[in-house]
Amino acid sequence: MISFFESFFEIQKKVHQIIFSWIPFSFGDVIYILLGIFLLYFIIKTFKKRSRSTSLLSILIIINIFYFAYQIFWGMLYFQTPIIKKLSSQDEPTVEKAKILALQYLEKCKETRKLVHEDKNGIFVIKDLKSVQQEILSQQSKLPKYISDKNATHINSFKPSIFKNVMNFTGILGYYNPFTAESQYNSQLPNTYVPFTSAHESSHQLGFAREQEANFVGYLIGINSKNLDLRYSTEYFTLKSLLNFIVEEDQEFVKKALKNYSIEMKRDRAYEKNFVLKHQGWLDDFFGFTNNLFLKSNQQEGSVTYSYFIDLLLNYEKVQKTKESYQAIRF
Ligand SMILES: [Zn+2]
Repeated sequence: MISFFESFFEIQKKVHQIIFSWIPFSFGDVIYILLGIFLLYFIIKTFKKRSRSTSLLSILIIINIFYFAYQIFWGMLYFQTPIIKKLSSQDEPTVEKAKILALQYLEKCKETRKLVHEDKNGIFVIKDLKSVQQEILSQQSKLPKYISDKNATHINSFKPSIFKNVMNFTGILGYYNPFTAESQYNSQLPNTYVPFTSAHESSHQLGFAREQEANFVGYLIGINSKNLDLRYSTEYFTLKSLLNFIVEEDQEFVKKALKNYSIEMKRDRAYEKNFVLKHQGWLDDFFGFTNNLFLKSNQQEGSVTYSYFIDLLLNYEKVQKTKESYQAIRF
C-alpha cells in the first residue's frame, strides 16, 4: 500500500516541479495567502444569519479539499520504512560516541571555515547561492542506494519565502510545500544556515517526510561536497546537533568545545546568537509551541530532541568505518 503512495509521489513531484519551478517567486506562498483570504471572507460571512449555513459549508469544503490533497501528496510518506531500519547497525546512541564524533567535526569545521568567504565584519557569506543549489541537486543522485532509491529530478525549485519577515521571528528556517513541491527558505537568515536548510528542504522534495530523516539526508548531501559553502554549513549543523545532544549530560565538554571554536567560527556563532536575540518575542513562543504540536501530530518527536538524527548519524558513521577497515584489510 505504502509503495503505491511512494510511486505516486515520484510522479506527483515531477509534474508539480515542472509546473511551478519556473515561476520566480513561491507560488505555494501565494496559494496560502489566497486560502487565508478565502477562509477569512467566509468566516466573516458566518456572522450574518442569512449566509451562515452556506458559508460554513464552503469552509468545510475548502478544508476538506486541502486536507485530502495534503494526505495523498505528502501525509502518506510518514508511513515509509524508517531509514534506521535500512542501516546494518542499529545501536542506541551514546554520549561517549557522540563526543568522539563532535571533536572530529569541530576539526573539519575549522579547516573548511578557513576556505570560505567573509563579509567586511568577518562573518561567513555564501559566494554563489545558485551553485550551492545546483550542487545539492547533483548530490541527490549520488546518495547511497540502500538509503535512497528515489528519483532525483534535477529541477531547481528552491524559492525564497514571501513570509521571510514573519519567519525571522518564528525560528522556522524553511519549509516544503506539498501542494507545489517547492522548497522555501528564509533568505534573511545568517548565511551559515542557508545551504544546509536548502539541503534539508530538498530532502523533503526528494521524498523524505520525517524531519530528522530530512536532516540526515541533508547531511549525506552536504558532507562530502566539493562546494565549500555547502560543506561548511553541513559540518557546522552536524557539530551543533552533536553538541546539543551532549549538553544534556556533559555541559563542561560543550563549554570546552565552544572555547575551541576557531576565531572565525566564534564570529559566525556570535552573529547567529545576535540574530536570534534580535528577533525573539511572543511569536517565537507561539510558533515554537505550534511547531512542536505539528511535529507530534505527525508521529515524530518534537523539535527539542535531536536524538533520531544523532541515532542515524552515529550508526551510519559506524557502518562507514567498518567498510573502510574491511577495505584496508583486503588491499
Ligand atoms: Zn523539514
